Parts: sequence; C-alpha cells; structure tokens
Amino acid sequence: MSIQENIQNLHEQLPENVTLIAVSKTKPVEALKEAYQAGQRHFGENKIQEMSDKYAVLPKDILWHMIGHVQTNKVKYMAEFVHLIHGVDSLRLLQEINKQAARYNRVIHCLLQKDIADEETKFGLNADEISAILTHQIQALPNVKVVGLMGMATFTDDQAQIRQEFATLKATFNQMQIIHPDLQILSMGMSGDYQIAIEEGSTMVRIGSAIFGERNYNPE
Ligand SMILES: *Cc1c(COP(=O)(O)O)cnc(C)c1O
Repeated sequence: MSIQENIQNLHEQLPENVTLIAVSKTKPVEALKEAYQAGQRHFGENKIQEMSDKYAVLPKDILWHMIGHVQTNKVKYMAEFVHLIHGVDSLRLLQEINKQAARYNRVIHCLLQKDIADEETKFGLNADEISAILTHQIQALPNVKVVGLMGMATFTDDQAQIRQEFATLKATFNQMQIIHPDLQILSMGMSGDYQIAIEEGSTMVRIGSAIFGERNYNPE
C-alpha cells in the first residue's frame, strides 16, 4: 500500500478525538510530501537537526512534533517553530525550553513523559515529579505550557503488559486532570500498539512504520 492509502486508512479508522502524528524520522522529504498530499499535517521527528532541515523545505502549515529524547543544548534550534514537544523528562529541560521560547515571544506546548515501561532504557518522570512540576515549578516558566502526558510501553509481545502500562498512564492522567485542567493530550501508541492505546484512552498516536514502511536503520 502507498503512503497516501496508509494515511487515508488511518484517518478513517481513528476515532475523531484522536490526533494522528505521522512519524517521519529517517524518511526522505518526498515521503513527507506524499503524506502531506493525503491531508496529513502533524509530523513527528526524533532528531532536532533532521526536523529543522525538513521544516526549512516543506509547507509552513505543517505542525512539527518533537517526539524523541531532547538534549538541552539543542532546544534553541527548534524553538522558533516546534508545535509540541512530547518527551519532556526533566525540570532542567523545561527551563531551557522556557528560556528559548521567550527569545521568540512564544509559549511552547509540552507533554511530560511518564516512565511506564519496565525497561531501564526508557526516559521519563514519575508521578511525584510530574505533580511537583504542575503544581509549583511551572509557575516560574511563563513561556511553556504543559498540555498533557506522554508514555511509551515496554517493547514486548505481551499485550496484557502493554495494556496495563497504558492503563496506568491513563489513570495518572485522569487524576492530574482534576487539579490541572490544562492537561488535554495523552500521547501514547505507536504502529505496533496504537489500537490498545486508543482503547485505553489515548488522544494522540505516533505512527511511523505503519505509514512509511520499515526504517532502514535504528533511529536511536
Ligand atoms: C519512532 C517512534 C515512534 C513511531 O514508531 P513506529 O513503530 O514506527 O510507529 C513513536 N514514538 C516515538 C517516541 C518514536 O521514537
């Protein structure tokens, strides 16, 4: 199936309240153009340099999502245009995003990444750290707005475990939403697990290989 067909099928299949992020990391600009022609506007990348190279040559109504781990010293290269930063996993990073956003007079929307997987390799905050940021620390950061949470399930074939991890994230999200109504986005689900994620309450799925095909090299 073509990229266009994959996009169309996903748009038909996804519930209306779920936003599709087309994860285009490692893929050439031509592939993104094909998705764009099928109506796709939200694109996700995991490297800041690659995202800004693509931003420079593609239509300006594209909404760019940084979905990867962000190095603090590179925030400045995306502060002018990034639409949403998914993987905010430290207060220090949030402070740097605030500082760079201020230089452009912007308020950059962010998701806090919660660690839900049982792997050592995954980045993320725990519920107490998220709570502290939302309740206190955010007040000193007028140029960032935390609009939701993001999580990645363990890389496993065990569907029950994946479901459990997503359910845990959704429970945290619901609980925090009571005090922090600005939390509206729950980013969870990739090509292999987005159906489970949606059943467990995802409002934003990040899908790469199911749209663009397998990637040639490991993007990590
Ligand atoms: C690469 C990536 C995705 C998309 O992965 P697929 O399995 O190709 O859909 C989603 N989220 C993050 C954070 C990624 O790095």
